[in-house]
Amino acid sequence: MKTVTVLGAGLAGCEASLQLANHGIKVELYEQKPKKFSPAHKNKNFCELVCSNTFKSTSLEFATGLLKAELQILDSPVLSCAYKCRVPAGDALAVDREKFAQLVTDMVKNHKNIKIIEQEVTKIPLDKPVIIATGPLTSDDLAKELQNLVGESFYFYDALAPIVYADSVDMSKTFVADRWSNSDGDHINCVLTKEEYLKFWQELVNAKRVQLKSFENEKVFEGCLPVEVMAKRGEDVLRFGPMKGVGFKLEGKNPYAVLQLRKENIEGNLYNMVGFQTNLTYPEQKRVFSLIPALKNVEFARYGAMHRNSYINAPKLLTNKFNLKTNPNIFFAGQISGVEGYLESIASGCLCAIYMIQYLNGSENILSSRTALGALGNYLVCASEINFQPMHITWGLLSPINAPKDKKKQMLAERALNEIKNIKEQLWM
Ligand SMILES: Cc1cc2nc3c(=O)[nH]c(=O)nc-3n(C[C@H](O)[C@H](O)[C@H](O)COP(=O)(O)OP(=O)(O)OC[C@H]3O[C@@H](n4cnc5c(N)ncnc54)[C@H](O)[C@@H]3O)c2cc1C
Repeated sequence: MKTVTVLGAGLAGCEASLQLANHGIKVELYEQKPKKFSPAHKNKNFCELVCSNTFKSTSLEFATGLLKAELQILDSPVLSCAYKCRVPAGDALAVDREKFAQLVTDMVKNHKNIKIIEQEVTKIPLDKPVIIATGPLTSDDLAKELQNLVGESFYFYDALAPIVYADSVDMSKTFVADRWSNSDGDHINCVLTKEEYLKFWQELVNAKRVQLKSFENEKVFEGCLPVEVMAKRGEDVLRFGPMKGVGFKLEGKNPYAVLQLRKENIEGNLYNMVGFQTNLTYPEQKRVFSLIPALKNVEFARYGAMHRNSYINAPKLLTNKFNLKTNPNIFFAGQISGVEGYLESIASGCLCAIYMIQYLNGSENILSSRTALGALGNYLVCASEINFQPMHITWGLLSPINAPKDKKKQMLAERALNEIKNIKEQLWM
């Protein structure tokens, strides 16, 4: 019987361990609790939800609903525990967090194929198959070890700028060009007049920010300040920084200020708001950023955020099976691999178990971006290495489908679920 070492008994580590064990693989699961706790973990049990108690919507109207439906087809043990501990919350899958953690812990501890070692890992075993799933608050000593392994491609904080759907941008208030370039442009530039800029700036400096936890105090680099912090330094700071209107080959004069939107994926349906990493609350992001004329009716695929978060530069380091290009024994799962969110961490644990089994068996069956699981995985390995930031599931990551707007989500979901059902058996071989 083959053995896999899993580091971290959180959402990703438990999902990966249980999936492997259910498919006949022996697992040695290391968890530092209850001997050692991160600043956010308090419960001695596994799979602790450190903040909210929801895994978001179950409706197929949302990409999070599709991801759950796919995980159910793949018999996700952790998701099945969540459904058993469900508390009323409309369409959302919210859980009794204590019961959920207890149920998963019992399932893991009672599994004949899983051996638990309650110990902080400070050295990564390099010569046997291992899944690193120690999460956004990976212990300091292991973080140092990871830095030794992957160098500057290991990060301690994320800085997410919002991502918007291209078809919700009012293109009549933009022009397409790259700054300081003679070639055809890739960036969409959202123009602001002086009056529009000043109104936007006033609202931005007074907008409500997320209250960070004490251990999350913003140790961000000067080059990566939240946009609202930059704005507070003075009326013109953004206009001479990320929103500068210079460098374009325009007839007449340059705009007073511009927000640049940069392609986030190959399909070009998602665009990133360049330099707009932020800690504003989500409603405030919608209100304030919609003051930029081209974004008046914009739809957000991801809001901006800045957290304490240990994660790697997945597109630079990983193969499409989530193992290191430099050492194929070492896989990454969960938030540390560059996904964002509870549900996505479970999904990543499931995907990682699938690819670990394929690695052990010498087979290859990568899930396509026609599925939400495959699309999330594809983002990790195909996103830009430059300023790589974590991502949660959103419709925009799936391969586009030719369908009328009002039928699009339904057809994307049908296509994905059919594909997962058809491929299910082959995935685990
Ligand atoms: C403060 C905070 C709040 C968050 N709130 C939300 C939220 O409300 N909703 C949401 O969707 N996402 C949230 N997230 C993001 C993320 O989805 C969760 O952190 C999620 O739990 C990540 O799953 P994971 O399995 O990758 O890591 P975790 O669930 O954190 O599991 C990692 C496990 O590894 C263990 N570990 C760490 N280092 C070692 C070591 N060296 N040796 C052995 N064990 C180790 C830890 O004790 C932990 O049990 C939050 C993150 C943080 C930090």
